[in-house]
Amino acid sequence: MSKMDEYRSKCNCPPCPTYLECAKEKDELAFCMSKRSSCIKEMKVCFCPGCPVHKDLDLQFMYYCIRGNESEQEHKRPR
Ligand code: SF4
Ligand code: SF4
Repeated sequence: MSKMDEYRSKCNCPPCPTYLECAKEKDELAFCMSKRSSCIKEMKVCFCPGCPVHKDLDLQFMYYCIRGNESEQEHKRPR
């Protein structure tokens, strides 16, 4: 299994209230390591902090589906 497949299989997005059917239909997962969702626009809550991928990779951010992946958000962070 590739790393990306592993992240996708562990991704905690599907039960998250922010995650939408349209994203499921497009097989969008593991936004922290890929690109943002093509259809999710409204933040409700984010289940990333409870996700094993978030813990294993020591990720810092949330709402990857809308705000962009870890490195994108890292570059936007005020210094
Ligand atoms: S950290 Fe968030 S986007 Fe990344 S795999 Fe986990 S639930 Fe999915
Ligand atoms: S990135 Fe966060 S807010 Fe977006 S669907 Fe995944 S868990 Fe929910």
